Amino acid sequence: MAEQDHDDPPTCRICFEPALRQRGGRLVQPCSCAGSMAHIHESCLAEAERHSSTPGWCSVCRGRLRAPRRPLSPHVWLTAAVGAALACIATCLDVAEERRELQQAEQARLERRQRSREARLERERQDMVQQERQRRQTEEQRTVVGKAALMLAHFAIQPY
Ligand SMILES: [Zn+2]
Ligand SMILES: [Zn+2]
Repeated sequence: MAEQDHDDPPTCRICFEPALRQRGGRLVQPCSCAGSMAHIHESCLAEAERHSSTPGWCSVCRGRLRAPRRPLSPHVWLTAAVGAALACIATCLDVAEERRELQQAEQARLERRQRSREARLERERQDMVQQERQRRQTEEQRTVVGKAALMLAHFAIQPY
């Protein structure tokens, strides 16, 4: 069994033709056979299988014949493409939903912070008002006490 030159395109071990464009013209490697015996047209393999005394098994290497992988039909392609697109859309929607929830959470956090800031400012304002009121009261009391003291002093200085 002569090794096939690597520069030569692989040829079919039945009809010695390279890969053909026609239906079944794809070259496949269904078994462990190597070199010039490695490749076979799908149609030639099918034909050989029809006349084989041991279908499913290679008569040369005695190995199990692998079913050649069929190229995907347009229907399968379309189904796969639509499935992939739907999965992508679903993922996009999930991401969008997640982002929207994150934005809402961030918004709520900001609003809470804003409310707590306003509440703090309001408390501070009320505290200031309260302090101011107390200061005024203290001042008024001081004034009253001061006036009383002045009067007492006045009477003390000029009792008669
Ligand atoms: Zn062939
Ligand atoms: Zn074989």
